[in-house]
Amino acid sequence: MWWHDALCQQVGLYPFYAYDEDDDGSPDPATARAAIEVCHRCPVIAECLADAMREEAHDVCNRHGIRGGLSAHQRRELGKRHAVA
Ligand code: SF4
Repeated sequence: MWWHDALCQQVGLYPFYAYDEDDDGSPDPATARAAIEVCHRCPVIAECLADAMREEAHDVCNRHGIRGGLSAHQRRELGKRHAVA
């Protein structure tokens, strides 16, 4: 399975979900950027993003954190663009 090669499994998942855990709910840009940089070096970024988009299309409550190099907001926007196309 693709997630066996996930780079976030090696660095720890905290930076990928710290994005959503601020007291006021706003993103922590530095932490999010660090997580996205890891994604951009990840060998399974395409598979990860495809999986996230598939899952989140059916369960918007599941849309959080950094996945496939995109924030939850960016994936929501990407999903909207695909829905229109
Ligand atoms: S693309 Fe990012 S979130 Fe997805 S498996 Fe790779 S490191 Fe993890």
